[in-house]
Amino acid sequence: MKNTLHSNGMNHKPKIGVIVVDLQGDFTTLKKGSLAVEGTDQYYLDKVAAATKALREKGYPVFATQDWHPADHVSFYTSHKGKKAFDVIDVAGKKQVLWPPHCVQKTKNAKLLLDNKMFVAVVQKGKDQKHDSYSGFQDDGGAQTELNPLLKKLGVQELIIYGLATDYCVKATALDAAKAGYEVTVIEGLSRGVAPDTTAMALDEMKQMGVIISPQIDS
Ligand SMILES: [Zn+2]
Repeated sequence: MKNTLHSNGMNHKPKIGVIVVDLQGDFTTLKKGSLAVEGTDQYYLDKVAAATKALREKGYPVFATQDWHPADHVSFYTSHKGKKAFDVIDVAGKKQVLWPPHCVQKTKNAKLLLDNKMFVAVVQKGKDQKHDSYSGFQDDGGAQTELNPLLKKLGVQELIIYGLATDYCVKATALDAAKAGYEVTVIEGLSRGVAPDTTAMALDEMKQMGVIISPQIDS
């Protein structure tokens, strides 16, 4: 990224954008979340907050995604009779992991853990009861969010992406960003995964799709 910081030329519009994925109570041990990802303690949150603030101070537009589900969402095991958490079922031809209920709209642990003032926009996802949405760009039914048009409007061409969780929503958001033509860097040190094996696979898959995996943000 170092080389591209100076390549804006006459164009004063920011070229690099930032997406902070699903920094919400339910995904953290800090807030005793229902789907807490390991290693999401105060130290992690402080690190993400500091990095996000620094990127904002560089003038980059920073976006957040927010998992925002109705209480009877298709991804909750409680919405399927006889199913347990982490069972995998078929939903409209796609594999769906059944999660404990999480990030239910307007609940305390659905709130973002970073100051909303940091963000150009907060893009909510997973609002449709019928479809899950790991990606900040679109749900499993193919419905697009406002994220891509907003990035385009700001002239963003490169994206720095991090957050929760590496093996699900960070991965899906990064892959969709790459498919949409952005140059994508995922910051591994500012992301945490649900499980080590799926996280390792996710990092490989992202690399294969041309996503740069960086341990931290180059200064
Ligand atoms: Zn969810």
